[in-house]
Amino acid sequence: MKNDPVGARRINIRGIVQGVGFRPFVYTLADKYALTGWVRNTTAGVEISVDGLENNLDNFVRELRLNPPSLAKIDHFQVKNEAIHSYTKFEIISSQDEGTQFIPVSPDVSICPDCLQELFDPADRRYRYPYINCTKCGPRFSIIKKIPYDRPNTTMSGFVMCPDCLREYDDPLNRRFHAQPIACPQCGPQVWFEIHGKSVSKGEDAIQQTRQWLSEGKIIALKGLGGFHLACDATNESAVKLLRERKRRIEKPFAVMTFDIETAKRYCQLNQDEIAVLTSKERPIILCQQKPESGLARSIAPQLDTVGIMLPYTPLHYLLMEPAEGYPGVLVMTSGNMSEEPIAYNNEQAREQLGRLADAFLFHNREIQTRLDDSLVEVNAKRIYHIRRSRGYAPLPLVLPLELPQILATGAELKNTFCLTRDNYAFVSHHIGDMENLETTTAYENAIAHYQDIFRIQPEMITCDMHPDYFATRYAEERSKQESLPLVKVQHHHAHLAACLAENGWTSDESVLGVCLDGTGYGTDGAIWGGEFLLGNYIGYKRLYHLRYIPLPGGDQATRFPYRTALAHLWSAGFPWENDLPPVFQCTSEQLKILEKQLQSNINCLPTSSMGRLFDAVASLTGIRQQVNYEAQAAIEMEALIEPNENGKYLINFRDGIIETASILKAIIADLHNQIPLSTISARFHNSIAQLVVDISTQVRDDLGCNSIALSGGVWQNRYLLEDTRKNLLSRGFNVMLHSQIPTNDGGISLGQAMIAAHTRHVLKEG
Ligand code: ZN
Ligand code: ZN
Ligand code: FE
Repeated sequence: MKNDPVGARRINIRGIVQGVGFRPFVYTLADKYALTGWVRNTTAGVEISVDGLENNLDNFVRELRLNPPSLAKIDHFQVKNEAIHSYTKFEIISSQDEGTQFIPVSPDVSICPDCLQELFDPADRRYRYPYINCTKCGPRFSIIKKIPYDRPNTTMSGFVMCPDCLREYDDPLNRRFHAQPIACPQCGPQVWFEIHGKSVSKGEDAIQQTRQWLSEGKIIALKGLGGFHLACDATNESAVKLLRERKRRIEKPFAVMTFDIETAKRYCQLNQDEIAVLTSKERPIILCQQKPESGLARSIAPQLDTVGIMLPYTPLHYLLMEPAEGYPGVLVMTSGNMSEEPIAYNNEQAREQLGRLADAFLFHNREIQTRLDDSLVEVNAKRIYHIRRSRGYAPLPLVLPLELPQILATGAELKNTFCLTRDNYAFVSHHIGDMENLETTTAYENAIAHYQDIFRIQPEMITCDMHPDYFATRYAEERSKQESLPLVKVQHHHAHLAACLAENGWTSDESVLGVCLDGTGYGTDGAIWGGEFLLGNYIGYKRLYHLRYIPLPGGDQATRFPYRTALAHLWSAGFPWENDLPPVFQCTSEQLKILEKQLQSNINCLPTSSMGRLFDAVASLTGIRQQVNYEAQAAIEMEALIEPNENGKYLINFRDGIIETASILKAIIADLHNQIPLSTISARFHNSIAQLVVDISTQVRDDLGCNSIALSGGVWQNRYLLEDTRKNLLSRGFNVMLHSQIPTNDGGISLGQAMIAAHTRHVLKEG
């Protein structure tokens, strides 16, 4: 032993390595291999310096690299040999600030099995305490005010640790060593139940009172992790209806929560992949099939066979969902807001905003720094497909295939996210929402400042959509002027394409066929684009094919009234407005006259190639929906009707860059006259669009040799269409790129904008 070689190593690790129990893990590992030295947090990650036997050093490094703590996410691992320092022990030393470096901040993490065990253990000092957490779980991003991630920099700063908590916090071998949000019933946040501004019970009593009220059909506003929820018994039709009325939310589905997977299975059809995502530490809402006769109130998801479901992700949720005789097994958990407003997240604001919506409140006194909605995903072919990326995922950066300058990309108007880049990271923000009120735009501006601060990003350039009326565009213009920064405007569907390429690690200059099927995007000709086949890359694109323009009466306003779009489609195709067609007979003759005049004179009509509007037109034509109460409602309801065994399709012609839609309308009208069931027509329509994509892809491959296809845009949230298209493309040997880390809808736009802007600069520099 005496003559075994000794050595030293310096290890630098970057990624999510703080707030995940990394240093205690290193401490224990060093102990195992009898190493001396230290570990510390830096603003760039974690740094380790160790002395020991060569053999042990190698094993230490190997184990650290291959088997880091479960929540850690290592992006960079560097080991250097050093001269021996002759340390006498191993210790955890204090953090070092390196100025402009940064580390990714952990998203919020659902309660871990150890903490859950304690929550229901009567012998534990935190028995039934709703704010249990440890280094492996608990609030993170939602409570962080600035970095480094230390307690004084979080909204826990006002809570003074009791001696017991402090002992755990200081003990390197304790699983709460430096767990910044550490708390217990003696020293941590507390809950209370409040009626009409008066606190009537606290702690366990408040929880029991909440449960009592919920089981009586009342509506309760609950303060959660990223904001308030409105909750009620999801099996109680009148409670759910009342919630809809108060929230003024017509038909848009509500999400529900159950205690565990077993209970969830009573209400939903769940496959193994879905179960894995439901129980993951991110705990998103997943969209899945409802079981018929499940007992869920009908008005949770009217007209749909799907439902959004999630499992508890905080200790408080577990206490509220705990099964008991006569207690509802499933609760509605919908965002605490009036329709269209952002979710309430501080107590004062909640009293004001939700006072008329809820019968009572369950409050707590831990402040929320960053408002976060629940994430919403679908699980397709083992992949997560984000619809709304927020709590649990944000602000985890995407690791890019190349280094980018520091860029601010301001995103789209609806389902907005923004994106900040530095090095090879893209920080796509959490879901900000639709930029239609001051609350949301203020949240947007604050969030940009917050991200810039915690990730230490000072944009060198700004990029935005081409739409002149987007709030995000005006914001970008103003900031670029104020700070004298270059501004790059990016076409909406080019951004969709680039976003899809970036998250699939695309680095080549080769062009890809971007099939951007979407609702609305501002085109370079001022038209509303949305049925676009773009051949391009980060640098540029060529518009190869698009749906033939139709005039959209009232422009984007028409999106609320599919029947207007349907009539415009019929008019453009030269088909008469026959009285037996649903969009026709639901209008008065006066309305028809006005609309016809508008179309003929082309007053206040915007040309559009939108695929979303084609779905609307077909949904109207088949009588499925004439007016919508939430985005894409018509398409979602039409998808729900699909007869899965129907293989028929309608013929769609495309030539000279134009895709003709008249043949589809004609065939559907014929099917309607022949009394073909709606489920069959719906299936045929979906099959036709999938076939169109395959046909054009094949044509482009034959003509130009392009074998890679990127599917992006909001229409690809349609699961049936996505699966059908993907399978068909794969079977023909195409390389198919889909979204899986960011939404395919406009929530993904900001990433694409950043990628394109970075390349503009690249081109400018070279030129
Ligand atoms: Zn835990
Ligand atoms: Zn304590
Ligand atoms: Fe879009």
